[in-house]
Amino acid sequence: MTHDTDILIIGGGLNGPSLALALAQAGLRVTVLDALPRETRAAPEFDGRAYALALGSSRVLAALGVWEKLADHAQPILQVKASDGRAGEGAAPFFLHFDAAELEEGPMGHMLEDRFLRAALLDAMDAAPEITHRAQARVVAQSTDATGAQVALADGSILRARLLIGCDGRESGTAQRAGIRRSGWDYGQTALVCAIEHALPHDGIAHQFFMPAGPLAILPLPGNRSSIVWSEATATAAAIHALDDAAYLDALRPCFGDFLGEIALAGQRYAYPLKLTIANSFIGPRLALVGDAAHGMHPIAGQGFNFGLRDVAALAEVVTLAARRGEDIASPLVLERYQQWRRFDTMLMAVGTDSVNRLFSNDNTLLRGLRDLGMGAVSAIPALRRSFMREAAGLTGDLPRLMRGQRV
Ligand SMILES: Cc1cc2nc3c(=O)[nH]c(=O)nc-3n(C[C@H](O)[C@H](O)[C@H](O)COP(=O)(O)OP(=O)(O)OC[C@H]3O[C@@H](n4cnc5c(N)ncnc54)[C@H](O)[C@@H]3O)c2cc1C
Repeated sequence: MTHDTDILIIGGGLNGPSLALALAQAGLRVTVLDALPRETRAAPEFDGRAYALALGSSRVLAALGVWEKLADHAQPILQVKASDGRAGEGAAPFFLHFDAAELEEGPMGHMLEDRFLRAALLDAMDAAPEITHRAQARVVAQSTDATGAQVALADGSILRARLLIGCDGRESGTAQRAGIRRSGWDYGQTALVCAIEHALPHDGIAHQFFMPAGPLAILPLPGNRSSIVWSEATATAAAIHALDDAAYLDALRPCFGDFLGEIALAGQRYAYPLKLTIANSFIGPRLALVGDAAHGMHPIAGQGFNFGLRDVAALAEVVTLAARRGEDIASPLVLERYQQWRRFDTMLMAVGTDSVNRLFSNDNTLLRGLRDLGMGAVSAIPALRRSFMREAAGLTGDLPRLMRGQRV
């Protein structure tokens, strides 16, 4: 049976291109398919998110040769402050405080806007001869057999490969077509996302205010700008999103406070409904799921894409080693190595973010007191504080080579 390529990746968002670059470095031929036109995905207004990229993630992007194009647009996160909050009250007296000066590796991470990251990944794919990127290529059917995987596109064309990888986001059709079910639930929250300009400098400090309806994150961007991720109950978020810019800012100001001086919107506003969705298996016959296709989680810890890049690093390593040993890169044994490396870690993070969201998104006086004391305690114990920081920076656990900044 002939194959058009070694590996077919469905999804050219963030994780699909990252994985394609990692596999191409190892000499594997990869085809990336995305339903959307390239220009749509590369347009600056396509996605308003800015990502808190852990140190481990910037190491992956550096090893893939992308970070050097991004570093000038990235804002180091020098400190993180998290506290309980209520509209109009400002931060509570007890809070969690992480300072990058305590980590010998430097800043725990960087803030990077989607518009720079997505464009850099698309450009890097274009420059890699091993990668074929097909835009406006919607996959409508797939099948696998003992020799390979086959997909059918909406335009009627058929492609065959040894291995099929779903990087097609939280509604993953790749998983559905393979009969992989998902677990999770709707949070009943929507994240309102925008960038703001402010009069005073942020000094590289990321703030998280745990408001009764959901967390408000104020994340530093280059210059006097910050990215806002403001989670509200879905109906309230819809009403706020429908307001004009001036009324939107009037709604934001009491939650935000005045610690950064006068604020103004910088660019468009976006709304992302939030849900937890975990694939019951990360693998199937000749198939693996990566990134949000495997796990969509609450943005409260800013770990969604970071965990996607961990999948990328682990799967690229497992597949590359198998290819070098002459093994079938899509054999159950090879794919099981990937699942074992990633699934438990992901479940812990998903349950963790879910529990933190439940514990903090309410106004229960008893819980408020307990969580404030908890945050104060973590902040006060240096060893505990540093271990949280190392975890958030992606420096702990059994790290694949890419996460250590090395090529696979
Ligand atoms: C408000 C918010 C804030 C966040 N902040 C952070 C953060 O600070 N740090 C962090 O690490 N993560 C963060 N995340 C998570 C992060 O945004 C996601 O994990 C990441 O975008 C997932 O990328 P992906 O490539 O897996 O999927 P996607 O970006 O969803 O890409 C999927 C691609 O698949 C394509 N596709 C789908 N179906 C088909 C088909 N049938 N045929 C062909 N193509 C198809 C789509 O067109 C799309 O381009 C945040 C998420 C939210 C909602």
